[in-house]
Amino acid sequence: MTQVRDVPLSENGATKPRHAARLKKLVEEAAHCERCPLFREATQTVFGEGPIGALIMFVGEQPGDQEDRVGRPFVGPAGRMLDAALAAVGLDRGAAYVTNAVKHFKYEQRGKRRLHKHPNRGEVQACRWWLDQEFALVRPKLVVALGTVAAHAILNRPVVLARVRGRPLTLPDGRGVLATIHPSAILRMPDETMRRQAFGDFVDDLKRAVKVVKSLR
Ligand code: SF4
Repeated sequence: MTQVRDVPLSENGATKPRHAARLKKLVEEAAHCERCPLFREATQTVFGEGPIGALIMFVGEQPGDQEDRVGRPFVGPAGRMLDAALAAVGLDRGAAYVTNAVKHFKYEQRGKRRLHKHPNRGEVQACRWWLDQEFALVRPKLVVALGTVAAHAILNRPVVLARVRGRPLTLPDGRGVLATIHPSAILRMPDETMRRQAFGDFVDDLKRAVKVVKSLR
């Protein structure tokens, strides 16, 4: 099994104060964003988090119910699935930058439940502005797209995930991209056997991501 405990995932070590200040400013600016209608129903903006200089950036679709309430990315069930997969390949989440393509929770109210709704193309496009700010600040070597919406946002074109999944791609600026499923897809599998298989495939994709990072360093 590929182990990466020996691979530092941040080039610059601890985040420098000026970078931390820039990130803090971005978070504050994004808190007042009205670039698309999603700010109206959501509790708060959920911006990315992690060290500036992280070699890997994970990009999901949008915050979920718990993320919306807490204000941090990937802290709900999908986040715990991501953490389990990262642990399986020896990746330290604290050394990676984790964010979403869309920073506000889009949902449909059903009684007391808030059911996730996919952001549309215009919302993804509007929020790409913030993702670009994160790319420019963090400057990751590899961006791991978690799910179709994230892959679409990063590659800037409609994507059939099955066609690009697990294949290292390169953006025009030289940054690497690797697309895989969103960890919530594992949670939606109908039985334990399928969940185990999907989790194993997800872990295999993360191992490929680690290999790519090693090759880019
Ligand atoms: S989803 Fe993104 S673009 Fe839309 S209001 Fe929220 S932060 Fe702004």
